[in-house]
Amino acid sequence: MKALVIEKPGHVTVKEVEDPEPGRREVLVKVKACGICGTDMHIFRGELKVKYPVIPGHEISGEVVSLGRDVASFKTGDRVAIDPNISCGECHYCRNGMPHFCENWEAIGIHRPGGYAEYVVAPVKNVYKIPSGLSLEAAALAEPVACCIHGQDLLDIKFGDIVAIFGLGPIGLIHLQLARSRGASKIIGIDLVEDRLQMALELGVDHVINGGDPHLADKVNEITGGRGVDKVVEATGNPMVLKQAIRVSGYGSKILVFGVAPEHSVTEVEPFLIYRKELTIIGSFVNPFTMQRALKTLASRIVDADKIITHKIGLNEAPEYFKGRLAIRKALKILVVER
Ligand SMILES: [Zn+2]
Ligand SMILES: [Zn+2]
Repeated sequence: MKALVIEKPGHVTVKEVEDPEPGRREVLVKVKACGICGTDMHIFRGELKVKYPVIPGHEISGEVVSLGRDVASFKTGDRVAIDPNISCGECHYCRNGMPHFCENWEAIGIHRPGGYAEYVVAPVKNVYKIPSGLSLEAAALAEPVACCIHGQDLLDIKFGDIVAIFGLGPIGLIHLQLARSRGASKIIGIDLVEDRLQMALELGVDHVINGGDPHLADKVNEITGGRGVDKVVEATGNPMVLKQAIRVSGYGSKILVFGVAPEHSVTEVEPFLIYRKELTIIGSFVNPFTMQRALKTLASRIVDADKIITHKIGLNEAPEYFKGRLAIRKALKILVVER
């Protein structure tokens, strides 16, 4: 089959590789769409500890083409989305309801061959049927949406809450739609890129502020009657943003650290404000038990995939994208699709 292979950091090609075969409890899926994500770029740039060569791609949807010997719950032709995070089911964390901390964790598209290929193999427990009425392309968003749902479960936005979202890429805009459906009364979008502020306004954010604005906290105060926001989503991965998030938070507010900061990066915060405002700072990692809910959330249009997916490219064009040679403007989520 044809696959996009990152041979080593900075080296990407599309080439013929051996066709994968499903094991006894695995499913072989013909890939129809695979979303490009920051993680893929980290692998390309050598910023993630992985064993090269890698076939990346972990936001996958497709059609079942063959089944392992012991798989009874799917049939060929089923439309499916894949949860890339594989847990063992036997370790301490798996036995305590926290499979995302699995001591034997493996991810499709990181540790095993991923979705930038004609076919991909996944364990049957990682394969989810796509609800009728939801397109294969929209279903490729199931994994990022599932991650955002896990984060918002932890953040617990309440009716009437004022929410600030730092970072208005695909993830920030998924959070925007989820926060609205959970009853946020006002949503403030913050980003450094003017195009993104504009797109967020089109997607229904109430106020936008440029993250570089020296009067950011004052502007948030103006919007919130001087009281600050009730909930913050940090979706930039920029370590410096935590300080701003703490500043714009009101009394009793919660901050969700969702963006992936570079490992070992450190940042300055004002502990006094955490103490005085009784702030709660929450982390959120991947998508435990939220894939099925994500698919239903997409099917119901609570999250509208059409507003997030802005570009589709073929597998052959993808290496040029990785190398930064494909001029794509105003991009949110880019899908690699079957051509
Ligand atoms: Zn991703
Ligand atoms: Zn485990």
